[in-house]
Amino acid sequence: MPEEKKIIPSQEIKDIETLIERNKAFAATASLNSTILQTLDFNLLTKHIANSIPEFLGYQTAVLAIVDETHQTLKRVAVSDTASAHAALQALEIPFGDIDIKLSDKENYCIKSIDENNPHTTSDLYDVLRPTVSRENASVVQKAMGTKTTLIYPIFAITEKKALGVFLVSVNKSAEDITEFEKQTLSNFVDGIRIALVNANLYTSLNNITEELRAANEHLKEMDRMKSEFVSIASHQLRTPLTAIKGYASMLAEGSFGKLSEKMTEPVGRILQSADNLVAIIEDFLNLSRIEKGTLSYHFAKMDMEKLTYELVAEFKPRAEEKGLALSFTKDGLGGYATMADEGKMRQIISNLLDNSIKYTPKGEIKVHLSHDRETGKILLCVSDTGIGIAPGDMPHLFLRFSRGSKQGGRKLYTEGTGLGLYVAKEMMTAHRGRIWGESEGSGKGSKFYLELSAKQQP
Ligand code: ADP
Repeated sequence: MPEEKKIIPSQEIKDIETLIERNKAFAATASLNSTILQTLDFNLLTKHIANSIPEFLGYQTAVLAIVDETHQTLKRVAVSDTASAHAALQALEIPFGDIDIKLSDKENYCIKSIDENNPHTTSDLYDVLRPTVSRENASVVQKAMGTKTTLIYPIFAITEKKALGVFLVSVNKSAEDITEFEKQTLSNFVDGIRIALVNANLYTSLNNITEELRAANEHLKEMDRMKSEFVSIASHQLRTPLTAIKGYASMLAEGSFGKLSEKMTEPVGRILQSADNLVAIIEDFLNLSRIEKGTLSYHFAKMDMEKLTYELVAEFKPRAEEKGLALSFTKDGLGGYATMADEGKMRQIISNLLDNSIKYTPKGEIKVHLSHDRETGKILLCVSDTGIGIAPGDMPHLFLRFSRGSKQGGRKLYTEGTGLGLYVAKEMMTAHRGRIWGESEGSGKGSKFYLELSAKQQP
């Protein structure tokens, strides 16, 4: 039986063609959407954008140009990877990347589109290349591309009402042959491009900020290293002359060069006291640079915290009393204050707490209490005072390098401190696997500083 030939009515063919065309349009939009989701690198994204349209809609060339605010120009950033585009690039008298149009070149259709926030169409490629590319070269390029019409779509970041750039599509048909559907699809496409560009811009600026922060951080580290080196060199250099000043002042005070007149006793005493203060400051600096270099060494041996605390309280008592402060020492009666520790370092830590309490207590008393919790095996030393206390929020910072509390706190009362004592003490307690912390109910309410370490511990 002869095969019956089915005749498809021409309207049906037209419908199928429309369907195919629409399918292509949807595929293009879907491809752009996935590009938006996947690509955040700005350069890669622009390339994807330029390539999406011609691939799916069969257009000849797509170009993306971006507003360069710094130079007030519209800069071509990406062109599709199509035969027509390659021909254009070869025919151009200047490199593609150099086609910068000034935002003030109002004759150019790209700028017109931006200024009016409206799409434009032209059959003359010169309209989108002028004045950077000459009229002659523009017509050579158009011939090489074989395009009839170029559509220009401005891209705006809606929320900011700011032009991001323009999207150019060149096709091989005249303006009248471009269907409404195609125009609508292109317009939808530009909406997608807008989101993609905003996303990528945010991402790129975030990346730039991260990079700037990284560089700033490196710079800070380098400055910190230089500061450490300076502190270390300066402290070492200061130590020798200071030892001489202290030695001679002490000999003068003791009368090694003859008995001092009454008038001279006080000034010489002051020289000696200042030299002692300076020695303590330099010791803090040297400790800081040793901690930073990791060269602070410890000699752990059996020692008695009770004996050491007792000695130190006796040592600081005259200074406290001179200021009218009572300084007392109490302990839980059960004993057991032997531990393994670096006695020199423990002396320094407790001295710093006592010194601070005297410095930051204008009147009242300072109590030192030692206890031993047999259940946990911890020795706890508490130095409490009735002094200026610590402003709320200051406490966590006091154990950092060079931290001196807020202007209402210690910094106001005693201007010469280094802000290193508690930092060094914390480092040293950590090396002992112990803890140091402070408590205060606020400014003017006194403060308590605690040291905790294991009895007979062996780090
Ligand atoms: P410095 O005493 O040299 O400033 P520290 O590291 O020993 O350095 O102390 C840091 C800061 O902690 C002090 O500047 C002060 O503000 C605060 N501080 C320390 N001990 C006390 C205390 N007993 N009472 C009130 N403030 C204190």
